[in-house]
Amino acid sequence: TATAISGSSSTEDTPPVSTNYQAPQIEIDRRRNLAIISHPDSGKTTMTEKLLLYGGALQQAGAVRQKAEQRATQSDFMEMEQERGISISSTVMNFEYQDFGIRLMDTPGHQDFSEDTYRALAAADNALMLLDAAKGLEPQTRKLFEVCRMRRLPLFTFCNKMDRPALSPYEIMDQIEDEFGLETHPILWPIGDGDRFKGVLDRTTNVVHLYQKAEKRGGKAGVQEVPLEDTVTLKATIDDEELFHKLLEDAELLEELINPLDMERVMKGEQSPLFFGSAMTNFGVQLFLDKFCSMGTKPMGRMADTKSENEEEMIGPNHEEFTGFIFKTQANLDPKHRDRLAYVRVVSGRYEKGMKVSHSRSKSGKKYNLAQAQALFGSDRSSIEVAYPGDVIGINNPGNFAIGDTLFTGGARVAFPGIPSFSPEKFAYIRSPNPSDYKSFRKGIDQLLDEGAVQALRQRNDDGGGPLMLAAVGQLQFEVVQARLKNEYNVESIMEPLNYSLARWVDGGWEAVEKADADGKLFGIMICQDRWGRPVLLFRNDWKAASVAEEEKYLDLKPWSTPP
Ligand code: GDP
Repeated sequence: TATAISGSSSTEDTPPVSTNYQAPQIEIDRRRNLAIISHPDSGKTTMTEKLLLYGGALQQAGAVRQKAEQRATQSDFMEMEQERGISISSTVMNFEYQDFGIRLMDTPGHQDFSEDTYRALAAADNALMLLDAAKGLEPQTRKLFEVCRMRRLPLFTFCNKMDRPALSPYEIMDQIEDEFGLETHPILWPIGDGDRFKGVLDRTTNVVHLYQKAEKRGGKAGVQEVPLEDTVTLKATIDDEELFHKLLEDAELLEELINPLDMERVMKGEQSPLFFGSAMTNFGVQLFLDKFCSMGTKPMGRMADTKSENEEEMIGPNHEEFTGFIFKTQANLDPKHRDRLAYVRVVSGRYEKGMKVSHSRSKSGKKYNLAQAQALFGSDRSSIEVAYPGDVIGINNPGNFAIGDTLFTGGARVAFPGIPSFSPEKFAYIRSPNPSDYKSFRKGIDQLLDEGAVQALRQRNDDGGGPLMLAAVGQLQFEVVQARLKNEYNVESIMEPLNYSLARWVDGGWEAVEKADADGKLFGIMICQDRWGRPVLLFRNDWKAASVAEEEKYLDLKPWSTPP
């Protein structure tokens, strides 16, 4: 049951100079967050459930959500959203494992939502690339990997479904190296695949873990541990002559072939610790969790503007004050409450229920009272008393907070850099067919724009009365907008696609646009303004955009923009 929230009312108190909200080091050190990226159907839901199972947050995997088939179409996406199941709206799942506080961050899998993924990754410090071992790299793994690389996150790789016929592990390593220029370092190495998948070698300890299938569906798997050097026992336990010899051979070969694990290179995204296993049958899942706790990075600081001149400073997790940034907002999560939530990643200090914070965009020094924040676990959103760096909290958003905003305590202003919008590739006019619905239509559109579900553009000289144009990275974003307008605001909408495929922001400003236009350089190009009145050009193809960028340098074209 969702708790009613009293939310963040504003007060006009004068700011205390220092409030000492420093986080205890022990709370920082024990936190690990992880965002999983994968192509649909590689087993992200299953893996998430199993991690929760081993973390004790779930009694039985599968209890959270029975997911029958891949849902990639629009109606499936909406169905999923409506289910409000663990995988979509939870955003972050918190659980304790041994002494660690694990934060699993959800990322949308479909490439049409890669902008959301990028925002979610802004809140993460570690990423896991989950692969289907039979398929290796797939289109959306590629797309999401690029997003991950932009954020320079340490990346772990887990090859799932080893209980089914799989590619050779060497082949998977080559694929990753050739395509991504990313060196892998096997930590868990598979013994067999398909029906003959026996278990994994832990290369850090040289202990072989041989599994039995879980007796109960959804239960934990029994495991037997044998040191690699105890070949007599090993041979008997593996009970497969060929696999036994192959294991010894592989173990020796890897020692020779593989560069040593270098956590500094992992942190830079040059090397990826590699794991093999099977989420469904639990093989290798707990071992992965153990390794992730010890190898994964604890919450990291972020660069921020702290002075009026554009000087940047590192705000580490042990900075004396509370700081955090908003990376996602969402309305109507609970149809009964019609609430709006802003998701805050805590960067430094301690969140306390009822604390007063300042807002990076507020010029008046106004304070906001964070009366009640929520932990975000599935549909069961409970109110929380404290939060620390690496945590994500949900706060009531009466409309003051937008993606990229910073909240902070203390006298010194802190502003983390905004989260850039992706360059849209799809454009369409949208309108409401019923004039009487206009108010609800506007309200819905404005809300969805605040959430960053799509971007909006208008024609150059339109002061608000002209046709509204939506811009998106992928077609599914449009479909979600239409479906949410209908479900949440009860309005129909009509979309007319526009034949443009690329947008460029004009950093040279309106004067540059006027000049180019007067010189006849913008023929066949649509001149628009974004939500903030900044010039944007729409092109029909890459080639045209590239040639204008090259020939009219004063336009200073940029593929994306950061909200002001
Ligand atoms: P998602 O789309 O990435 O969230 O993938 P799911 O977790 O829903 O899994 C997709 C399908 O693969 C489901 O039918 C799962 O039961 C199946 N699956 C997931 N992990 C494994 C695994 O380790 N082995 C096998 N054989 N099937 C798996």
